Amino acid sequence: MQTIAERFTTIHERIRKTELENNRPAGSVRLLAVTKKKPVADIRAAFESGQSDFGENYLQDALPKIEALSPLPLCWHFIGRLQANKTRPVAGYFDWVHSLDRLRIAQRLSDQRPPNLKPLNVCIQVNLDNEDSKAGVPPEAVAELALAVQALPNLQLRGLTALPRPETDPQKQRQAFRHLRELLETLAAEGLPLDTLSMGTSSDFEAAIAEGATIVRIGTTLFGPR
Ligand SMILES: *Cc1c(COP(=O)(O)O)cnc(C)c1O
Repeated sequence: MQTIAERFTTIHERIRKTELENNRPAGSVRLLAVTKKKPVADIRAAFESGQSDFGENYLQDALPKIEALSPLPLCWHFIGRLQANKTRPVAGYFDWVHSLDRLRIAQRLSDQRPPNLKPLNVCIQVNLDNEDSKAGVPPEAVAELALAVQALPNLQLRGLTALPRPETDPQKQRQAFRHLRELLETLAAEGLPLDTLSMGTSSDFEAAIAEGATIVRIGTTLFGPR
């Protein structure tokens, strides 16, 4: 069985190879290690192999891990569904939120961001397929939300997130990611200074990088099945 350090090496090699194949600068894709349902020991092992960005979906599980690891210089990303009554700990403990999809939540996060911390980095999650079961705003509602979020003082709007329907055909995978990139380009053309496309997981991150992902969110391939 591979160690966590070996799996990181393999993923870094795959990311670098895909960057090169798509004429993207080395290091232009940031690896977010998704540690939902994984123990503190796994996160520590990942940190020891050089990883510092970690993503969690469930606040209740995340907070004790963040506390336990607080002596380490880690960057925490909230990638799960946001509930209005749980925004305060998200605003206090995380550096990034990838799953913003409502203005009311954005307002609460901005109001509750502790004044001693830098603005909270946020990405708006887009429901590309308009699936009822999925979080995210429909593509046609992104611009309005982005402009409103942009005006909030303690948030820094960085870009867009998607978790498209799983596809095995790389061309179909790329179609969804291309759609998200085009949405980002539209917002940029309207003057929003966005630099982040958070897209791609274990099963489709190479297609996401080919379409411009700047953050890939990988769990299973690094830490095993949940
Ligand atoms: C779990 C999760 C991931 C990681 O998925 P893997 O298939 O385990 O790589 C990425 N993004 C979100 C939003 C997730 O919930």
